Amino acid sequence: MREQVSVLIEEERLAARLQELAAQINEEYAGKKIHLICILKGSVFFTCELAKYIKVPVTMDFMSVSSYGDGVTSSGYITINQDLTMDIRDREVLIIEDIVDSGRTLAYLYHMLKKREPASLRICTLLDKPEKRISDVEIYYTGFEIEDQYVVGFGLDYAQRYRNLPYIGVLSLDEIG
Ligand code: 5GP
Repeated sequence: MREQVSVLIEEERLAARLQELAAQINEEYAGKKIHLICILKGSVFFTCELAKYIKVPVTMDFMSVSSYGDGVTSSGYITINQDLTMDIRDREVLIIEDIVDSGRTLAYLYHMLKKREPASLRICTLLDKPEKRISDVEIYYTGFEIEDQYVVGFGLDYAQRYRNLPYIGVLSLDEIG
């Protein structure tokens, strides 16, 4: 198999969109503090880059989850590999996700975190594949809506590789010979 990556969203477009999202967040959370929850590992680049443009006081925490499915779609049953280190009760919480596909992972995560009684709980995703949605989950901030294609870069991986690409690319796997 030969792997090829073609650019879908270049670096400059990503930076511009992140600044727009941050401006909206700054306006809507004015006078408040915001607690960002980065979902490892895919959301690391997005969380850090977005946080640079946020002007209201920011705290951050990290969570690692695994979603078990048939290898193509997630089942929606998630295992927490690494839980948050801080209590989210009474905080203004924003979950930062890399990509929403079926929505099952986030739907589960959202309900789980809601039970911890944050003051508010919203979801921010860099990428959304709306046509793949199965679970009803409310995404408050979306960077880009994309078609159903496998993307890598800016934190997103294929077999743990490509996370360091500064852009979002579409991965294609070609048979050789
Ligand atoms: P969902 O539960 O919404 O079906 O799955 C979301 C998760 O699947 C994402 O957090 C991500 O880990 C993975 N995922 C879905 N689509 C893609 C994709 O196009 N590229 C990569 N790298 N991961 C994806």
